[in-house]
Amino acid sequence: MTPAHAELRQFPVLDDCLQLGGITLPRLAERVGGTPFYAYEREHIQSRVALLRSTLPPALHLHYAIKANPMPALVQMMGLLVDGFDVASGGELKTALDAGMPPSRISFAGPGKSNAELRGAIAAGALLHLESEQEMERAARIGELLGLTPRVAVRVNPEFELKYAGMKMAGGAQQFGVDAERVPAMLRKMAALGLDFHGFHLFCGAQNLSARAIGESQRLCVQLALRLAGYAPSPLRVLNIGGGFGVPYFPGERALDLAAVGEGLHELMRKLAAESPQTRLVLELGRYLVAEAGVYVCRVLERKLSHGQVFVITDGGMHHHLAASGNFGQVIRKNYPVAIGNRMQAGPREVATVVGPLCTPLDKLADSMELARVEPGDFVVVFQSGAYGMTASPTAFLSHPLPLEVLV
Ligand SMILES: *Cc1c(COP(=O)(O)O)cnc(C)c1O
Repeated sequence: MTPAHAELRQFPVLDDCLQLGGITLPRLAERVGGTPFYAYEREHIQSRVALLRSTLPPALHLHYAIKANPMPALVQMMGLLVDGFDVASGGELKTALDAGMPPSRISFAGPGKSNAELRGAIAAGALLHLESEQEMERAARIGELLGLTPRVAVRVNPEFELKYAGMKMAGGAQQFGVDAERVPAMLRKMAALGLDFHGFHLFCGAQNLSARAIGESQRLCVQLALRLAGYAPSPLRVLNIGGGFGVPYFPGERALDLAAVGEGLHELMRKLAAESPQTRLVLELGRYLVAEAGVYVCRVLERKLSHGQVFVITDGGMHHHLAASGNFGQVIRKNYPVAIGNRMQAGPREVATVVGPLCTPLDKLADSMELARVEPGDFVVVFQSGAYGMTASPTAFLSHPLPLEVLV
């Protein structure tokens, strides 16, 4: 169990120690070779994907967005569970190919793709999600040079935006995608450029916990795509409607009602099958697949008192876990769920602030939080840390070593 709110997954505890993948924390730390480290549980990822498979329409294609967690062992494991990968850089494309994903099941989105990245993606045969008319022209030129026909989809910036998203990525002025009103003209041009058109990609936003808002945006995405398909040089084969499924991080947040999202998608698939039977519907998820499977673990170096306040000083911090420090896009700093991993239930408790070794007051893993009273050597565990952890953090800041990562 965790002391945080009821919406979070509960972990088994043995001898007052948290267990991960059936191993108690002190033993796991020994096995990993020290702290700080990230640990991701295979079993949890597998059951998460199984839950999605049993709740969502069987014909829906499930993709994993590698940027959420690009650890090679995790990506390799994920490759056996999902139908494709979404990548957003040449580096992620390499990770996807190394994991054995067939190039035809890899899609490459993101603004500002370099010519080298376009060349790599076209040569491999991945699906390019074009983010602008200029990118389309560059892709066509590179395809010509390589003697290959690039497989492309158009990322559309729709008129509508996703309500209740933690991070909005569509609607109004955006660096992402092509404004919906410009797509017909772009598609007319595409016909003359010798590109292999597959379909559309719409990604409205991330970290959404409202099934109703997700359902509404998915309906609007399909409607818009079917309208735009009328201008396309060939039938709509792929429609990637993004994802944006959120996970609860903070007290008061409710977990996403997946059953409700599933109902909406069943209805949408029926509509799509009737109106555009050759279209494959794709959902791309990042954090929803991995966030809850992961924890970040560091060790207490000192318990320090200053003006009556308790500071727990650890060997980990913001340089490994920017999101938990509150500096990864949060407007108001809130505490991630945190616990002392070897004092899960017993012993005295106190209010403490958990900090790292960086010379900046931003380096906080928990601010004035009720925790078990610590001693040096204890384990601080940050939950909900399987996504946007190490690779979303300023790991070079202050030249500390990288955290370790394990899949257990
Ligand atoms: C970041 C991103 C995702 C993954 O977002 P999550 O919130 O982790 O699910 C999916 N698709 C695109 C295009 C993205 O940029």
